[in-house]
Formats: sequence, C-alpha cells, structure tokens
Amino acid sequence: MKKQIKKKDSLYIWHPFTQSRKSYDPLVINSARNERIFDIDGNEYVDLISSWWVNIHGHCKKEIINEINSQLKRFEQVMFTDFTHKPAVDLAEKLVSILPENLKKVFYSDNGSTAVEIAMKVAIQYWYNKGRKKKKFLSMKGNYHGDTFGAMSVGFTSGFYDPFKDFLFDSKFISFPSIWEGKNDIEKDEDYTLSQIDRVLSENKDEIAAVILEPLIQGAGGMNICRKEFFDKMVGKFKKSGILVIFDEVMTGFGRTGKMFASDHLVEKPDIICLAKSITGGYLPLAATVFSEKIHSEFLGENIGKAFLHGHSYSANPLACAAALASIEIFNKEKTLKKIKKISLIHQQCLKDVSKKLNVSKIRHLGTIAAFDLMNFDKGYGSDEGNSLKKKFLKEGLLIRPLGQTIYLMPPYCISEDCLYESYEKIIKILS
Ligand SMILES: *Cc1c(COP(=O)(O)O)cnc(C)c1O
Repeated sequence: MKKQIKKKDSLYIWHPFTQSRKSYDPLVINSARNERIFDIDGNEYVDLISSWWVNIHGHCKKEIINEINSQLKRFEQVMFTDFTHKPAVDLAEKLVSILPENLKKVFYSDNGSTAVEIAMKVAIQYWYNKGRKKKKFLSMKGNYHGDTFGAMSVGFTSGFYDPFKDFLFDSKFISFPSIWEGKNDIEKDEDYTLSQIDRVLSENKDEIAAVILEPLIQGAGGMNICRKEFFDKMVGKFKKSGILVIFDEVMTGFGRTGKMFASDHLVEKPDIICLAKSITGGYLPLAATVFSEKIHSEFLGENIGKAFLHGHSYSANPLACAAALASIEIFNKEKTLKKIKKISLIHQQCLKDVSKKLNVSKIRHLGTIAAFDLMNFDKGYGSDEGNSLKKKFLKEGLLIRPLGQTIYLMPPYCISEDCLYESYEKIIKILS
C-alpha cells in the first residue's frame, strides 16, 4: 500500500515548494489526532508547526467535525452572489464582534493569498471610486503575503520570486526592526525605519494606495518580531498621512500571538484585515478580508460601476463557515486563550534552557511562536543542510521545518504541557 501510494505520487503529483528531482520522499500520512500525526507505518509525529500554521485546536476535533457534518446534511455549497445563508452571516457577525471595532464588512474568499489580493484590489478601487489614481503599495522588507502576483509584488524581498521579478509591480519597502533576546540597540533600528517612513511619505504619499503589514511578527520571512511600541508609532504615521492600512493577519489571527488577533496588542487599528489559515481551525479552506465602513461606503452607488466586481466559485463555502464558527466557539468553551498563555510561559522557560545549552542566536518568542537561529548554517530554503535536519527531527518524532537557519515552534493550542517540554528536550538533544 505505502509503495503504491508513493509510486503514484511520483508519477502524478507536483508538490508545492518542492524540487521533485531530489530524491523526494514524502511521508504517507494515514491519520491524525490532537497534536499528533501518524504515518502509514504507524510512526507518530508531534505537529509542532500546526500543519503549516492552520491547525489550532488539534486534529480530528469532534466539535468541528460535528458542525461540518450537520451543515453537510443541509447543503454543501451554493453560489454567494444573489444567495446568502446562515453559516456565512453568523460567521460574519461573529468576526465583526471579535475584531477591532471599526472593521464591519466581511468579504469571503478561500486562502490567504486571495484575502490579500482582495485587500489590495479594494484599496486601489477605493481611491479610483473617489476619483484618485494611486498606483503604489508600501510593505516591509521580508514580508510574505502569498504567491499570487499582487501578493508577490508586496513580498518579493523575501526572495522566492526571481523568475517573476519583471512581472511584479513596483512597490516600496521599508526595513523591519527585529528584536530578540539581548538586543539592546533596537531604538536605533526603529528610528531608522521611522525616518524611512517619513521620507517615503513625503516623496510618495499621493501615489501610495495602502501599506500592507504583518503585525508584530513576520512569518515566512523568518519569524522576525518587532516591538509593540514601535508598531503603534509606525501605524500612527500611516494613519495620519491618510493612506489605507492593511494588516495581514493570515498567520497571526486566532490566538497565535497571545491575543485573539495581533491587532489586539495595538492601539492603532487597521482599515482592512486579512484572515485565513487557522480561521476554520485548519479543517477547510476559507479566508475573510474585513473592511471598515469608511472603505465599504465608497463602493455604494446607483450603478454597478462603483461595485467591487470580484468573487470566487467557493466564496463563503457553508461547510467552511460552519467549521470556522465551531472553531471560534471552542475559544470560549475551552478558555483557549488561557492555554495559549501557558504555552507562551513554557516557551519562555524552555528557551532559557536552549540559550544555556545550545550555540544559537536571536532567541525570540511571541505568544505560541518561539524561534531562534542556528549559527554557521546554510541559509537557503530547501538547502541540503536544512533537509537533513528536518529528517533528524522526524526520526525523533517531531514535525519541525526550519526556515533557512531559523528553527521555530508553532504548536497547536491543544498540545499538552508534557509533550511540549519533551519536544524541547528532544530538540536540544538533536541540535547539540
Ligand atoms: C501563509 C500566508 C499567506 C498566504 O496564505 P495562503 O493560504 O498560503 O495563500 C499570506 N500572508 C501571510 C502572513 C501568511 O502567513
């Protein structure tokens, strides 16, 4: 059976982010439960990256499965133009009630990249509808916003996009002042970024439609963290200048950073927020881009010309909306934010051990995310060194994917304390 699956895989499948030529040997997964994934040979792995940052309450969570099932018995999918349904409106009401107060209108799609594209297209059309032409976006170096063309254009400094460079539109980038354990001249880096912002705004303000930000932590760019005080100062400058502010909370949403949204740590709120990944608890694809009334009202008019003419076949899929409602309900029922706090404390404690026992640098953590950098390590994504390290972790029963030289942990919130402590022990053993 395993042999057959692998053979068909190599015959028919083209995997994402993968060089197939290199003796590619994917694990064949058979089942998963809570924080663990089981392969077809019965080996188990602790899912320390939440199945690429989507799975927050654990695998096969009965409350989510039940809600998907009961929606499935009513209907599975209808179009979302001319039609509406209870799961979509209940979820939108719920999201609006837990998001920053100014965010009022929910536009559904099905992945993080489309959530970002929608934010960017709406930003452009917002100014267009007001009779203004604004053609540029501002972003931060190292940001990642997805793999579609618009998202690549505001993320290309992350280095994945060389073949497409000439096809991306011209965006402006400011630097991201990263903080870590023991970094004591952070103000210098922050002031540098703030002065870059002043310059960009004074030279290009009338051209810039919006700024897109990963609030407090850059994900795929390497789990880089910045200070809340700085972030508020920065967003404050953008708000004062009148350009639209987009928060990409595709990774940070739903508890990751210690609060329900990274926005909840901040005084300054965005005009637009992008949500995806863990919105359904990691069960079905769904995304939401949520807008302030100020933006939405510019799309109201007597004719179709002002409307946002954009949509996807599976917009607001009812099964996905039902899963999302169930996932958010679990936060109340299980006091998930308390569990998150506990995980954060364990990270803090175990990272002290990491710092003592390993030769690593830039130790950092925010909420349920912990990271540090290996010294003298081949930095490239998909490097041989990275791959062999990934295999060593798997052999010890840990699912960890280094981002270049960065090792990070982003466990599902259901992980037991013992399991997290044990995982740290194993990591220290493997790396030392
Ligand atoms: C993963 C990610 C995206 C892209 O989401 P997909 O669902 O993979 O398209 C966008 N922004 C951030 C911050 C992400 O982490």
